[in-house]
Amino acid sequence: RAYNFCAGPAALPEEVLFQAQEEIANWHGVGCSVMEMSHRSDEFVSIADEATQDFKDLLAIGDDYEVLFVQGGASSQFSMVPLNLLSDKTTADYVNTGQWSKKAISEAKRYCDVNVVASSEAENFTTVPDFDQWALSKDAAYLHYTPNETIGGVEFDFIPNVDAPLVADYSSSILSEPLDVSKFGLIYAGAQKNIGPAGLTIVIVRKDLLGKAKDFTPTMFDYQVHAKAGSMNNTPPTYAWYLSGLVFKWLKRQGGLKEMAEINKRKADKLYGYIDQSDFYSNPVDPRYRSRMNVPFVLADDQLDSKFLQKAEEARLLNLAGHRSVGGMRASIYNAVPERAVDALIDFMKAFEKDYA
Ligand code: PLP
Repeated sequence: RAYNFCAGPAALPEEVLFQAQEEIANWHGVGCSVMEMSHRSDEFVSIADEATQDFKDLLAIGDDYEVLFVQGGASSQFSMVPLNLLSDKTTADYVNTGQWSKKAISEAKRYCDVNVVASSEAENFTTVPDFDQWALSKDAAYLHYTPNETIGGVEFDFIPNVDAPLVADYSSSILSEPLDVSKFGLIYAGAQKNIGPAGLTIVIVRKDLLGKAKDFTPTMFDYQVHAKAGSMNNTPPTYAWYLSGLVFKWLKRQGGLKEMAEINKRKADKLYGYIDQSDFYSNPVDPRYRSRMNVPFVLADDQLDSKFLQKAEEARLLNLAGHRSVGGMRASIYNAVPERAVDALIDFMKAFEKDYA
């Protein structure tokens, strides 16, 4: 197998893939695949319950939160959040730190007055606005932010301390380090980066925020409906849920999120360290807010971009092209990307620099 630096759907732990391969046609001797089981069967319910419990253990999620396994991607959360959390309020606060924040903001504008409390757009999304300068509303239903901007490679190094319930799009950094969930009203994450395969979205929501959806909220967009039905109001993405469960077990075997945070920091430090000492490669992000998950970089001569990508692929280093909206390169180094993949990437970058600088 090659090393895969895709931003999403992203690499999965090899061990998980091999286990799934072993179990694919006949799960634990029951005579069929998890894909072929009724979601209401005892077998699947046990798979789902165990995955949910392991996820709660990893993040130390308290009983005052519901964990929902839903569909529609993180993009559906851009509307589910306002539909469920506005209640009788008319304003929500949003922080604008990149392309994903912008999408969340434009969707929320369909439902409420959006107050953009701070934006780094003038800095081309290379930093996080100083918290002291945020223009918070007096009566916001919630504050939404994107702790890790997958495209720009910008990551918060603090959790905003605000009065309104805090809502975070953790799609690209959930499970990368321990997190104090009790500071949040709601966290959501599309699975296809650090959780499992695409098709599943996890929502962690504080129970007191449930049951306030607008009357016109589609049934499947109402968190309360999913909470009451154990995320089985309709057929859930059973295979993605099962595979995510295997990833949670793998994370536990690695030593949990504290251990993952150390590994992730080591991987990111190495890569940024190499980029910074080179005149051939550069990363534009304010060093304080550089993402440990998504590392964008550019070559001094962008005429070499396609050659770089072609040679990388030949070296079995996949998916290093930057997002289509920004160009350049991006190495996504989520949990499942091993440290030796980062070493291989750096070796390749050194050799390319030697040949083409
Ligand atoms: N939010 C962030 C931070 C993302 O990185 C992505 C996807 O890359 C999304 C939202 C959209 O996720 P989905 O494709 O699951 O709707």
